[in-house]
Amino acid sequence: MSRLQLRISESAGFCWGVERALDLAQRAADEAPGPVRSLGPLIHNPGVIADLEKRGVEVISEPDDTPDGTVILRSHGVPREVNERLAASGVSVVDATCTFVKSAQDKAAKLRDGGYFVIILGEKDHPEVSAVRSYAGEKSLVVESPDDLPAELPSCRVGVVVQTTQSQERLAELVQQLAPRVRELLVYNTICGATEKRQSAAMAMADGVDAVVVVGGRNSGNTRRLAELCVARQPRTYHVESADELDPLWFKGMKVVGITAGASTPPEQIKAVADRLAGFEV
Ligand code: SF4
Repeated sequence: MSRLQLRISESAGFCWGVERALDLAQRAADEAPGPVRSLGPLIHNPGVIADLEKRGVEVISEPDDTPDGTVILRSHGVPREVNERLAASGVSVVDATCTFVKSAQDKAAKLRDGGYFVIILGEKDHPEVSAVRSYAGEKSLVVESPDDLPAELPSCRVGVVVQTTQSQERLAELVQQLAPRVRELLVYNTICGATEKRQSAAMAMADGVDAVVVVGGRNSGNTRRLAELCVARQPRTYHVESADELDPLWFKGMKVVGITAGASTPPEQIKAVADRLAGFEV
């Protein structure tokens, strides 16, 4: 019997935007007078949301659910009309929208104003994508991959913006498919640096290990993308939300296991996974 060797990805866990959102929410919970609510879960991590709830931050799903007090806008941002409604309602707004998400929103508006048909590469139901789309205008299109492109494009002038947590590979595939079909293609690569760093570090790590554990919420788009990229390189990739989900049988006979984590995974969860793995006899 021996113990596993562990390799933790060089870049894993909380990103700058998530740390800032949490800091703003914790400060609001401690200092704001009256009730504090977040419009949607602040980040896609159930453990962190439960902790915030204990500190008094209630999660609401609609802007109208906050008649008073303070509302926190999460790092994914909110649609333009929601921003306008909240500003008119008189509640106090703490805007934790990440700078990189704001940049994607601005670029989408710029393309729309420039008369481009706007294509957003991203997950159709993701709140960040819905918010970016509100800036791109109703005639825009969300695609998850080049397969979603329609047979006929409504314009020969096409602009592209990207969900901040998409992969460069998927963007490259889309551009390759679009370029021959249009006269003008303006691409804003709005994938954020933190995402890029986590993805390349995870892929490099996955190449040299017997299995990969990806830690993070199943509802976290960037964590799911890390798992997709790792599974393409190492089929024995396991996506877990917490250390309890690890099954010692997955690692029988292995030597080296890599660990990576999404941008919304706190350091304690990564440590708990590493500690449990370190205790397995293989
Ligand atoms: S993953 Fe990137 S865009 Fe999203 S919150 Fe973090 S830094 Fe901002």
